[in-house]
Amino acid sequence: MKLYNSLLEGNKKWVQKKLEQEPDFFEKLSHGQTPQFLWIGCSDSRVPANEITNTQSGDIFVHRNIANMVVHSDMNMLSVLDYAVNILKVKHVIVCGHYGCGGVKAAMQNEQYGLVDNWLRFIKDVYRTHSQELDAIQDEDVKFDRFVELNVIEQVMDLTKTTIIQNAWSQRNEPKVHGWVYSLKTGLIKDLGVSFDSSAKLPPIFRVDSKVNKRSTVAAGETR
Ligand SMILES: [Zn+2]
Repeated sequence: MKLYNSLLEGNKKWVQKKLEQEPDFFEKLSHGQTPQFLWIGCSDSRVPANEITNTQSGDIFVHRNIANMVVHSDMNMLSVLDYAVNILKVKHVIVCGHYGCGGVKAAMQNEQYGLVDNWLRFIKDVYRTHSQELDAIQDEDVKFDRFVELNVIEQVMDLTKTTIIQNAWSQRNEPKVHGWVYSLKTGLIKDLGVSFDSSAKLPPIFRVDSKVNKRSTVAAGETR
């Protein structure tokens, strides 16, 4: 119980500290949230979005799962993404992976872990897509780090393939999507330089027609 109670005690101390720094901190936040960022990160306990970016409550809308995946049939992720993009109208969506990710490591191997093996399958697909590059890396640690990076890049690409992101781009040229990797060893974040705010660079098969244009074309056709 001591361990359990330490969380509730910690909460009281945190409230006290916040109120000392900013007396209306909770009062202000109680009126609503206007975060500018959506964070899609790993569930790993060592990668807390607010702490590692030195931000506060209210700054980042967060979705976390094992290995920061963007799976197109994941209703949880899609609901968070849709709400963040279309209701909160965030300006940036960040996929943040991390070196030393247990999910990515497990996906490199063949051991069974249970239900999670089905989730890891999506990461194995990333390996298959980049197998030529990854198989050519002899050093296992270097290969692991690169796999983490490639997984983040693929999840960024998967974000850009959603109708949610592409419709937002055609309506307001936002949000910009980005891929980051956090280092557990240094605490530093590396920007992978895979930022997108349009579907121009997407392979044509993944581009969806703008809903707005399609409707107006149909309407124009009907008047003829
Ligand atoms: Zn992880």
